[in-house]
Amino acid sequence: MLLREATPEERRLYYLEEWKASYLPDYITGSLTMREFAFDYNGEGPKDRYRNFVSLTQFEGHMVSSQPYAAYSSVAFYKEPQKRSGWLSAELVFDIDAKDLPVRSCNCRKGDVCEVCMGEAKEFVLSISDTLRDIFSLKDIKFVYSGRGYHIRVFDEEVLTLSSQERAELLDYVAGNVVPEKENLKGRYPELFIKKAIKILPLFTADVMKEFDQPAVRVHRVHRLLKYLPDVLEDIENGSFRKFREILSNKTYLSLLETIREVNAGMVDAKVTVDVKRILRLPGSLHSKVSMICTPVKNLESFDPFRDAVPRFVMER
Ligand SMILES: [Zn+2]
Repeated sequence: MLLREATPEERRLYYLEEWKASYLPDYITGSLTMREFAFDYNGEGPKDRYRNFVSLTQFEGHMVSSQPYAAYSSVAFYKEPQKRSGWLSAELVFDIDAKDLPVRSCNCRKGDVCEVCMGEAKEFVLSISDTLRDIFSLKDIKFVYSGRGYHIRVFDEEVLTLSSQERAELLDYVAGNVVPEKENLKGRYPELFIKKAIKILPLFTADVMKEFDQPAVRVHRVHRLLKYLPDVLEDIENGSFRKFREILSNKTYLSLLETIREVNAGMVDAKVTVDVKRILRLPGSLHSKVSMICTPVKNLESFDPFRDAVPRFVMER
């Protein structure tokens, strides 16, 4: 499917004939008056900021009349959203963008996405939400297809007032942004890291490795690793990096673990998670750059953006 930019006429069609205020999820309508809204009218970025609405009708009128190129709302709740002051709390968010994934098994050029890398982004989203549920006992987790990736939005009471620093630490854990101590691979965090390593290692072709600044990683050793990969993965699954280390030199082994950490870190946009005043693309709005609808996702496993987030004007193109 061609992800091309929407024309002003297509935006008009979308906001007049397809979009409805009911496209907004409850977690936005329920807190409409406490959020900052921001709009981009021409593709140059959200320059109309600090917007606030006192009612859904007023908001609806603005969307229909301005037919924005892009619309955003704050993850934060404020006493005075029109001034961005009186910060009360903020959702915990994770932004996973398929176009920015550090390793992808497709042939997409930088900035492009396809069904393959969108699927890989979704896998990563699922693994993060599993960790949030299983290890941090968080329950109120929502997903949004953002246009070229996914947002995870968490509303549990205990995360809403976390500081930026606490959000950064939580992100390091759930993304796998710390190399576990090598002699101690039991425990929840190392197991999480291992699970991610198993997913990522098959994507480490020599070409991919060249992208990482790890001079100690010798390409012929990576080739050998890939040759024996099924054995290595089985070993890792049993909590041991022994075979992994036997095939690689000690230096390569450590560098490769560091590369896995780097890949993990690059899967999520940390700036978004730590910013407690961030604005995020508004669910229901049109992502005009790619002509897709930013869509709240009820069932992530069965969600297919190329079926479920396509505006009518694209189907009629
Ligand atoms: Zn792709």
